[in-house]
Amino acid sequence: MIPVFNPVITNNDIKSVLLSLRRKEISGNFSHSIIDLEERFANYCGSRFGVAVSSGTTALHLAVASLNINAGSEILVSATTNIATALACYHNNCKPVAVDSRLDTWNIDEDEISKYITKKTRAIIVVHFLGNPVNMEKVLKIANKYNLYVIEDAAEAHGSAFNNKKVGSFGDIGCFSFYANKTITSGEGGILTTNNKKIAEKLKLMRNLGFTKKRFVHYIAGYNFRLTGYQAALALSQLKRINSIIKKKIEIANLYKKYLKDFDGVRLQESLKNSINTFWMIGILNLYKKNNKIILSKKLRSFGIETRSFFLSIRKQPCFKKIYNKKDYLTPNSNYLWDNGLYLPSSINLSEAKIFYICKKIKSAY
Ligand SMILES: *Cc1c(COP(=O)(O)O)cnc(C)c1O
Repeated sequence: MIPVFNPVITNNDIKSVLLSLRRKEISGNFSHSIIDLEERFANYCGSRFGVAVSSGTTALHLAVASLNINAGSEILVSATTNIATALACYHNNCKPVAVDSRLDTWNIDEDEISKYITKKTRAIIVVHFLGNPVNMEKVLKIANKYNLYVIEDAAEAHGSAFNNKKVGSFGDIGCFSFYANKTITSGEGGILTTNNKKIAEKLKLMRNLGFTKKRFVHYIAGYNFRLTGYQAALALSQLKRINSIIKKKIEIANLYKKYLKDFDGVRLQESLKNSINTFWMIGILNLYKKNNKIILSKKLRSFGIETRSFFLSIRKQPCFKKIYNKKDYLTPNSNYLWDNGLYLPSSINLSEAKIFYICKKIKSAY
């Protein structure tokens, strides 16, 4: 089976983790690797500060928690995203308002955002889906006009850029994941980026139970969202070769484009002008009505090719059934992406011959 994703752990990665363990970087408190990772990752993104945490999910949770948003507020989120984006709102007692997607970039529809803004809206969380940058110029303009915070869920978009600026550095806070299949990994893990020193300090306090000078007297109700030192060492080792990882991902995307270009059964993700899509995963939309995505996916499986479905719209998640009125915020485009979208194998060790084979089988499945 050609898997959707196959992790690449190099000897250097292993050495870094071993070294870190020898230095006894076990917890999330006393570790040079964490400080190093925070500095280098922030620097890589063009942000001033980095705060490492236990996952992309806890990064998003902490981002919302740090911004003094009142309970009962509304936060606009891209409809097509990992549930973690909406849970960050929900678990902070805010309502995730799903904004529908575009059918070309598969991202939040920047021109629709204003329509969802009410007196209760406090923030927007945009998602750079599959590594494809959102038009941050438009988003920031709206946010300034309505005085909203901007959080970028860049969990899939390490190194992606818009107008020559890396994602995660546009909004008040950027959130990245270091989950096993993400562009770089620490196993489980994540990091927040910000240019605001006060926010960075607050995030560091909140991830560490709100510990301040007077030990065991807590002024902030924090969390334990710490990353361990040896996990940071793995991410740090991968960060050192992130440019070659991204180069490979873009090459893979170009090969899929080349072999699927003249085939009208599927549609590929389109990127905006002035943007760099780092193609965390290669997605396709099935355009052939008689052959829905489930049939297509089953056929590909019989040829030894694994695929995976896109995300179900936040608006349609059963766990949020109670928070929406029946007719509110319907997301027809996001539903269309769910009905027709599949990820193809996208590991950086995928050969051109395999990509050619996968494309041949996609065509023959029609
Ligand atoms: C992976 C992912 C997350 C969650 O990150 P974890 O590290 O798995 O908690 C959040 N948002 C998006 C868009 C993701 O792809």
